[in-house]
This record gives sequence, C-alpha cells and structure tokens, in this order.
Amino acid sequence: VSNGKDIVYDGVELEVNKMKVKFPTQLFINGVFVNSDSGKTLSIVNPSDESEICKVQSASVSDVDRAVNAAKKAFEEGEWSKISARERGQLLFKLADLMEQHKEELATIESIDSGAVYTLALKTHVGMSIETWRYFAGWCDKIHGSTIPINHARPNRNLTLTKKEPIGVCGMITPWNYPLMMLSWKMAACLAAGNTVVMKPAAVCPLTALKFAELSVLAGIPAGVINILPGSGTLAGHALASHPLVRKLAFTGSTPIGQKIMTSCAASNMKKVSLELGGKSPLVIFEDCDLDKAVRNGMSSVFFNKGENCIAAGRLFVEETIHDEFVRRVVNETKKMAIGDPLCRGTAHGPQNHEAHLDKLIEFCDRGVKEGARLVYGGKRADRKGYFFTPTIFTDVTDDMYIAKEESFGPIMIISKFTSKNVDDVIRRANNTEYGLASGVFTKDISRALQFAERVEAGTVFINTYNKTDVAAPFGGFKQSGFGKDLGQEALNEYLKTKCVTIEY
Ligand code: NAD
Repeated sequence: VSNGKDIVYDGVELEVNKMKVKFPTQLFINGVFVNSDSGKTLSIVNPSDESEICKVQSASVSDVDRAVNAAKKAFEEGEWSKISARERGQLLFKLADLMEQHKEELATIESIDSGAVYTLALKTHVGMSIETWRYFAGWCDKIHGSTIPINHARPNRNLTLTKKEPIGVCGMITPWNYPLMMLSWKMAACLAAGNTVVMKPAAVCPLTALKFAELSVLAGIPAGVINILPGSGTLAGHALASHPLVRKLAFTGSTPIGQKIMTSCAASNMKKVSLELGGKSPLVIFEDCDLDKAVRNGMSSVFFNKGENCIAAGRLFVEETIHDEFVRRVVNETKKMAIGDPLCRGTAHGPQNHEAHLDKLIEFCDRGVKEGARLVYGGKRADRKGYFFTPTIFTDVTDDMYIAKEESFGPIMIISKFTSKNVDDVIRRANNTEYGLASGVFTKDISRALQFAERVEAGTVFINTYNKTDVAAPFGGFKQSGFGKDLGQEALNEYLKTKCVTIEY
C-alpha cells in the first residue's frame, strides 16, 4: 500500500456492475482490524434483492472499552497529540484525496448497503463527505481563541485570553440513511479540533464506515485516533454513551433514542452531548409561487433519498387556490419516477433501507387511510423483490391525524390546504409540532418569506428552494429535533472546550 504499511483484514471482495469492491468486515480498533470479543456478527443485507452481502463483527461492551482506551492513549500520548495543527490538516486533506480516489468504490458499497441510487450515492453520500473532510481540514490551523478586555481600573494590568482546546475522546453514534455522510459530518469536525474518536455506525449499514477505516490507515492517521465499531445500539451504542472516559457524545438518530442517549450521558459522567434528531418539517406553498419550481422542489423535499432524509418535508401546506393543480402535477411527476435497482442508470427511486423500515411505512399509510386521509397515489409495497415502496401522496390531511404528526422517514407526501391570505395561521400550523429541524416556503412575496423565516421554529429555513445544505452552513434542529450543529464553523464548537486564562502583569 502507498504508505508502506500493511493492512490486513478479513473482508469481502465483490464484483458489482463490473467494478471490484473490497471492504473489511471486522471492528477497527487502535489502527487494526480485529474480531469482536463476543464473536457475534451482524448480517448485512442488500435491500434491493434481500440477499446477505456479508456478516460483520458486532462490537461487545468490552470492545467498546478497548477502543475508548486506545482513543484515550492516542489523544494523550500518541503521535496525534504531538503533531502541529497544520500537519493535522494535511493528514485530513490526504484522507479526503484517498476518498476521492475511491469514490466510485465507496458509492457502490453505499448503494448496495443502503439502497441509495448510485448517482446520488456518488454525488451526495460520497461527494458531500469528501467536501466535508476538505472543509474541516482547512479549519485545523485556523482554530483560535480571543483576547477579552476585562473590567478593571486603569492602568489595566490584566490580559485575559481564551484558548480553544480539544475535548478528548469523542463518541459518535449515527443512523443508516446517509452512513458515510453522517460519519463525515461529525468526524471531520471532531478530528479537525484535535480529538480522537470511537464511532458506532448503524447496525444495518456499516460497510462504508469500515472501508473508510481502511482509507484512514492509508492516509497515515495514527493508530487509535479513529476507531469504528459496528454493533447494536442497545449494547455497543449504550456502552459508548455511558463510558466514563468519553467526554463528548455526538448522536444523529431518532428523538426517542436521543432522549435515552442524553440520559446515559448525564448519568455516566455529564459528558457534553449534541443531538441531531427527527423532524416533521413544514413546507408552505403560496399561490404566488413559481409553481414549476414549487412542484420540482416539493417532490425532492419528500422523495430525495427515498424519503430517508432527516430534513424531508413531512408536511406540505398548499394554498387552496393552487392545491388541485399542485396535486395533479405532483401525481403526474411521481408516476414517472422509475423504481428499480439503485445501481442501474435511470433509476430514480431505490429500495427502502431495510425490511423493518418498509413494514413501518406500510403501517404508517394504513393509519392514514383509517383516519380518513385521501390516498391519491402509492401507499404500498412495490411489486418486486427487495424492500421497495411506491412513492406515496396523501391529500385531505388534517393536523390532528397521526400521519400529520409523526415522522415517516419514507417517501410519503402529506398535503393539507390552507386558505388564509394571512400568514399567521399557516405559521401557527407549521409550528404546531414538537420537532423543529427544517422548513421551507415558496412565494414571490419577499416580506411574506422573511416573516416566515423570522417566525418559523426550525433550525433551517429554505426560501424558494429545498434540501440545499452546504458544508459551510450550520445544520441542526430546535425543540425535540435536538441541539448542537453539524457543519460550518459552528460545528467546531461542539468538539472544543474554551479555557479562559487571566494574567496580571
Ligand atoms: P435510531 O435512533 O433508531 O438509531 C440511531 C443510532 O442509535 C443507531 O446507530 C442505533 O444503533 C443507535 N442506538 C439505538 N439505541 C441506542 C441506545 N439505547 N443507546 C445508544 N445508541 C443506540 O435512528 P435510525 O432509525 O437509525 O435513523 C432514523 C432517525 O434518524 C430518524 O428519526 C431521522 O429523522 C433521524 N435522523 C436525523 C438526522 C438529523 O440530522 N437531524 C439525520 C439523519 C437521521
């Protein structure tokens, strides 16, 4: 291998669409691939044909302990603790370059593991991950504190300054919808700040995280800095969130698990925590919008990545005067979406991530129908092997219905009407949720758009666009969608502590 190190692992080599892909199936602890202490494994299934891709080692509590201790040693005594911030940045740039060189392989692995359409996996899952690593690599040598004029009689013989320091060992627990991107959003900021990490990917989709571990060795990231432990949430995830040597826990996942994690963090050692949780984001479409654009964005606000998108618009409010036309157009467009093998060119809509999720979506739609919402398209499993679900559209949804309140995390469009020309009423309805992740509005009236942006209770607001996330822009929710930011400069603060030093001279 390029840096002269041998990387030895048990793994899998496959030929997919004439491309050779190779990835480890073991835990990655202290720079080497190892088996779990328990000998337990996870079965990794391809959602497009329900076949088992491979078995992957499943971390036990003692594996988590081993990894945390390795990360602690790397943070305190290893090479990582001695190199300059600029050298740290260079290592992260190198890692990004290696990801770029392996981007097709990473996208193929992501696609067979998560069901993401290959072109999307390449552009978003992998492409945005690479951008994230480069963005934070650039920050490494630009992190600094400030000097503060403290109140004192003149002549002031005091100098007060702040230092930004890494926190130590950080734990990370991520979901299955964008496996590599969720890893990258958190880990790149964490390492740029100088920490070390123990990361637990979702049990159903750990393959790109393990491939990434291999690339991290090739990039020359010192042993112990990155540890990756596929495993169950209740065992490995809980052990990580509760570990007394972990000083920060970054989590992306559902709100109920976020609550459990916060409890574990508080009970173990009051570790710092950031939570990116679920959403039921409102998208409000006014009569005066550019309707073509609203239809296009309305579609992607729900169906992007087969609805397995945390900022997906879970509720569309469409002004009564354009409601029927909007519905007619989205139904037409939805009918055209090619459902199929995510690796095939031309496929627009791949399988849902795993079987239990598909079952949940079917149940979600059944509840909608029972409560009296009008199912105008889809609502059922697609007629083919694999965990395929037809993109679905409900209208006549009232705010008290289950499907208007709960997150589906699937390709299900929920449309209600609003009549008032008065923005107040629709903003009140948009805010009538415990979630507060994202929101959107389509209108040509700038005052109305800005009023919406001012008053909507959501961490992200899109005006005349949707899903436009960028590595430089902070991302994260309000209310029960969590707290703390990924991406942008603000994300660094999640992985830094501020020390205040006062000198009298
Ligand atoms: P989940 O909460 O079930 O699982 C997330 C992770 O937590 C997994 O790795 C899981 O193994 C682990 N886990 C489960 N129980 C645990 C426990 N007791 N202790 C520690 N870890 C535990 O979520 P999911 O089903 O993987 O993902 C879907 C959810 O994620 C949706 O609600 C979605 O909105 C949310 N999500 C949010 C964002 C965001 O940025 N806000 C992004 C993506 C997904």
